[in-house]
Amino acid sequence: MLGVGFDALTRGETIEFAKRLIEEHSSAYMVTPNPEIVMQTWDSEEVRAAVNGAELVIPDGIGVVKAANILGTPLKERLPGIEISADILSYLAESGKSVFLLGAKPGVAELAAERMKDTFPGLKVCGTNDGYFKEDSAVIAKINAERPDFLMVCLGAPKQELWMAKNRAALDVGLMAGLGGSLDVYAGTVRRAPVFWQKLNLEWLYRCMKEPVRFKRVYKLPLFLVKAMGKRLRKIFNGQKG
Ligand code: UDP
Repeated sequence: MLGVGFDALTRGETIEFAKRLIEEHSSAYMVTPNPEIVMQTWDSEEVRAAVNGAELVIPDGIGVVKAANILGTPLKERLPGIEISADILSYLAESGKSVFLLGAKPGVAELAAERMKDTFPGLKVCGTNDGYFKEDSAVIAKINAERPDFLMVCLGAPKQELWMAKNRAALDVGLMAGLGGSLDVYAGTVRRAPVFWQKLNLEWLYRCMKEPVRFKRVYKLPLFLVKAMGKRLRKIFNGQKG
């Protein structure tokens, strides 16, 4: 859809697939593009390759689901990365598997680890590292020493997608996932929108109101839907001609 190969899966199917990738332990990666990331793929071949190189591409953001409907290629449901990560963490805790937390400001991943262990009793957090490192090699060595089943890569987009694509061959992990600001949410340093806003699909607006600097990032979103409509109209028009 608009240059990104989303997987049309339900939440349950996504988790089953993620479990299989964890079992295979081949450093597969998952990305959770919202409209902002899809638009970044239009401007950069490198970002497009990194996003489409993922084994699992799930729609995080109501704009993606709406655009897919407009294009006549519907996705099954919106799958917020934070909720998918919670399902995966719950599976890891139940099955004695481990997670490594990479990203966010110094101290945040440690705090997130403590809070996760309360929420998911039995969860093994085998390591943490902040997201402001200079050299990849030392961080990769630290991760590989633990051979985590799941690696949360929370460096913001598109840095995390590029990082996973570039380093997957050097990494020894089950599955990794680019999860933006999730560690801030798990640590409690940033709050998710209240359920009322989530249900109205206005989580993005809530985040913008809390951090007005984000308006700078979303002002192009109408362009995203207009582009989807244009593509759909072209498809209908070409179909009629054919
Ligand atoms: N971040 C990081 N390293 C960087 C830049 C950002 O670890 O070089 C972290 C930042 O501290 C924050 C997250 O990446 O925890 C990005 O959060 P944001 O909510 O902007 O991500 P989004 O989900 O919108 O992509």
